[in-house]
Amino acid sequence: MEPNNAAPSVALNADLHCHSTVSDGTLSPEELAARARERGVQLWALTDHDEIGGQHRALRAAAAQGLDYLTGTEISVTFAGETVHIVGLGFDADDAELAEGLACTRNGRQARAMEMSDSLAKVGIRGAYEGALKYVGNPDLISRTHFARFLVETRVCGDTGEVFRRFLTDGKPGFVPHRWARLGDAVHWITQAGGVAVVAHPGRYRFSPTEEYALFTEFQAHGGQGVEVVTGSHSTAEYAKYADLARELGLAASRGSDFHSPNESRIDLGQLPALPADLTPVWSLLAERIHHPA
Ligand code: AMP
Ligand code: MN
Ligand code: MN
Ligand code: MN
Repeated sequence: MEPNNAAPSVALNADLHCHSTVSDGTLSPEELAARARERGVQLWALTDHDEIGGQHRALRAAAAQGLDYLTGTEISVTFAGETVHIVGLGFDADDAELAEGLACTRNGRQARAMEMSDSLAKVGIRGAYEGALKYVGNPDLISRTHFARFLVETRVCGDTGEVFRRFLTDGKPGFVPHRWARLGDAVHWITQAGGVAVVAHPGRYRFSPTEEYALFTEFQAHGGQGVEVVTGSHSTAEYAKYADLARELGLAASRGSDFHSPNESRIDLGQLPALPADLTPVWSLLAERIHHPA
């Protein structure tokens, strides 16, 4: 990797991870763009789960707000039996192979949602599928988050965090195991479309050190180049841990709130600390791919 000579750009207020109503966020791409600008974001990416259908709206909204924009998505992958998320940044929003890969990845969410609903019915929670659907903005993208909102609405739980602790996670009622995309495929879809692949929130996975090492080794072998260091999912200790990993493996670092909703997200757009100054920011690899407002 190049020696770091991009010190000023490391301090850029970049927020390269958030969700709209096109996946499991509660704000539209236009509302997110306005909120990002109000909160001081300078470079923004909308990264809906397994979906790029909101990218042209986000691009136009970013331009209207005077924000620099990178295209984005967050792909669900199964690696060593765990779900891992791979963020893609700076790809061509009209790339057919990426669109096809994401369509395959979304496929199966519907059947999984029905099974989740059946599983919840067995513990006395009825009508969860219909209840979750009320929160779905994109019929192809029903997610656990939409079920969580229904269980909060019906006061089964006090907040979405409690829903995930008591339901919807491995071993709990409502959890349905699912096989997502393969790591190599997800990285390939992103990179062949001109983008950079980034391991999202690595601190969230329940891997042993050996499994985590295997994840990053395979990710890099497939052409992955980035890791989220500063994210709404990491503690301060995890910022330091994954900054060290980025240095050790020569990975570029990303920063993103993972904002979903004003009512649910702990970290708002643009509010995280800056990346450590010696790291190579992922946006320095993507200078040519940034859309600047006219
Ligand atoms: P899915 O893609 O349907 O498996 O849903 C995954 C989404 O659920 C994540 O992107 C988060 O938005 C949400 N999620 C997962 N774990 C939690 C948690 N512990 N608390 C709140 N939301 C969560
Ligand atoms: Mn989500
Ligand atoms: Mn994620
Ligand atoms: Mn996310």
